[in-house]
Amino acid sequence: AERELYVTVSIGIAVFPEDGDDVDTLVKSADAAMYAAKQQGRDGYQFHSGLRSHGDIERLDLGNRLHRAIDAKEFRVYFQPVVRVETGTMTGAEALVRWERADNGLVLPGEFIPLAEDSGLIVPLGMEVLRESCRQAAEWNRIGRPLSVSVNLSVRQLQRRDVVGTVRTALEDSGLEARRLSLEITESVAMQNLDVTLAALADLRRLGVGITMDDFGTGYSSLSYLKMLPVDTVKIDRSFVQGVGTDPNDATIVRAAIALAHELRLRVIAEGVESAEQADFLRVHQCDELQGFLFSPAVPAAEFGEWVVSNRRFPV
Ligand code: C2E
Ligand code: CA
Ligand code: CA
Repeated sequence: AERELYVTVSIGIAVFPEDGDDVDTLVKSADAAMYAAKQQGRDGYQFHSGLRSHGDIERLDLGNRLHRAIDAKEFRVYFQPVVRVETGTMTGAEALVRWERADNGLVLPGEFIPLAEDSGLIVPLGMEVLRESCRQAAEWNRIGRPLSVSVNLSVRQLQRRDVVGTVRTALEDSGLEARRLSLEITESVAMQNLDVTLAALADLRRLGVGITMDDFGTGYSSLSYLKMLPVDTVKIDRSFVQGVGTDPNDATIVRAAIALAHELRLRVIAEGVESAEQADFLRVHQCDELQGFLFSPAVPAAEFGEWVVSNRRFPV
């Protein structure tokens, strides 16, 4: 009829025999996959299992190895010192997980945490990190140093009904005082399922543990979440810290963030401090605590333990 039409195609793919070993089942699988393709914006294809594309197979493989790594206890918790600006003493450490692969050296969390989150493995893994961090911190406190440990919490962990019980058990088993533990959450973690998150955080605060807003400033609504969430500490993201000496906007943002947090009676930590100039700037603007490669990267527990014994200081 002399009209021009644009046609796109959405394709669902089912593979024999994994997605069905008779015609009916295969067609049903392909149909379901087609709807998935439409849901993802149309004009594309989708495998039924969601596991057949190349990248997915690699991820599956890594996923399997992650599973085995948990069983083989290949994960280690490293500790990065957090330094009080005024005194240069350590107030504690952030626990950062490392994968010490038997075959392939050290793997940083950027490579496996997202996958562990997708697959749910972050729950058992995070629990191990939490228990180990509490155990270590309790040991250091018994030596007579009042150090705190902060542990990153992912959304999967926070939204489990047993999160408060898990934290309580980790504290009880280790003997660590609740106020010596802080849980680091990001805005994106907090934002999902806000009701559940708020209730869990309130319960955790009642337990006596601290809540730190991590990567502060990178989300798109930091201020409203800061008001709403029961946090006691903010950690200014390293992307701002890095620029304080060179980018006037970063300097302004960091200054304002410190002032704002203090007005709200929150403790402020700056992360990613790499140079003496950055540390100076943060000291002058009364940031409470610093963390970064200027002092030390995350180190194995044994090494950190030696610093605890020798009461190592990092003068700013
Ligand atoms: P994050 O919580 O923002 O952790 C800080 C990251 O910055 C760490 O990377 C740390 O090594 C790095 N860093 C510290 N100081 C400096 C510095 O001066 N300069 C620079 N450029 N980087 C610095 P890492 O250990 O690779 O961890 C990456 C992310 O993985 C963490 O970001 C955190 O989101 C996640 N992660 C690590 N351990 C855990 C864990 O046990 N559980 C969960 N859920 N997430 C974790
Ligand atoms: Ca963190
Ligand atoms: Ca951070």
